[in-house]
Amino acid sequence: RPLTSNDLIEEHRICVCVRARPLNKKELTMKDLDVITIPSKDVVMVHEPKQKVDLTRYLENQTFRFDYAFDENSTNEMVYRFTAQPLVETIFERGMATCFAYGQTGSGKTHTMGGDFSGKNQDCSKGIYALSARDVFLMIKKPNYKKLDLQIFATFFEIYSGKVFDLLNNKTKLRVLEDGKQQVQVVGLQEREVKCTEDVLKLIEVGNSCRTSGQTSANAHSSRSHAVFQIILRRRGKMHGKFSLIDLAGNERGADTSSADRQTRLEGAEINKSLLALKECIRALGRNKPHTPFRASKLTQVLRDSFIGENSRTCMVGQKQSCELTVDPSAAMDIHQGGHNQL
Ligand code: ADP
Ligand code: MG
Repeated sequence: RPLTSNDLIEEHRICVCVRARPLNKKELTMKDLDVITIPSKDVVMVHEPKQKVDLTRYLENQTFRFDYAFDENSTNEMVYRFTAQPLVETIFERGMATCFAYGQTGSGKTHTMGGDFSGKNQDCSKGIYALSARDVFLMIKKPNYKKLDLQIFATFFEIYSGKVFDLLNNKTKLRVLEDGKQQVQVVGLQEREVKCTEDVLKLIEVGNSCRTSGQTSANAHSSRSHAVFQIILRRRGKMHGKFSLIDLAGNERGADTSSADRQTRLEGAEINKSLLALKECIRALGRNKPHTPFRASKLTQVLRDSFIGENSRTCMVGQKQSCELTVDPSAAMDIHQGGHNQL
């Protein structure tokens, strides 16, 4: 019998989705070709422009299945409901949950995770960070969890070129240490206690402005770094569960490695390395492999405890800009085991 998305969630504890953002004004006026359509809630169709030997052009169609596919009309709330929301309970049940947004710069990762920062809108209340926090505060009121007397904390940091910077503390550079028991620690990372959703929104705003400050071009630096927002539950000081929500660095394929600028090439190499390491760790998680190659990058190193343990679950949102002309059926697809997702 073919695998269903339930099998993937149950057996592999991984959910892989795709979200296409709407074409923006510029793309619309350029009459960009829509190279992606989402014909049903779990299918993505990729139309790749090709040329025959006689130079006539045609579209080659391929279909891929995901756990969920969200088209350009989907809202953050809808995406949230099928991706991060089911993971909220995991952290109350002493588990580790992780949700990633993956894709090229401009594909909508920050919009999905952080919220709407376009134009005059500076609304972080509709991003997956804030929606998750909202539900954590609802869940903690349930009698079963209320009696645990849990405290809620948040951290927000950035990983840029293999270095960790605290977004809740003026981008202080932090050291990552691994102790004898293979516990990984980000030394000095600010962990702020939060009592309500409002508290969390304030921290997200602080972190976001810290993330984008001091740059000439607003997206330049932030698109080259991974942003990690965490909600941590503690019981009598001890970690009970952790939810890591990650706005990954843009996976600019090709463009980096061929760039004339040395810094850009180095950044690109570092990003590729960490995304590859991430893929390997997620794969290991899905197969219950005893050995997780988390040391291969700073990103996977600081997420180590989320890739091991019985009760770890991950969700990946592959962001697509529907006008991309170089079609590489999203690398998020590679994460799906065995390629069963190609119809
Ligand atoms: P990334 O973080 O991947 O570089 P952004 O989240 O900054 O991409 O999105 C790029 C632009 O597209 C922004 O102006 C953003 O507001 C807009 N955008 C992204 N996703 C959506 C969406 N689902 N609906 C409307 N606008 C979107
Ligand atoms: Mg971004």
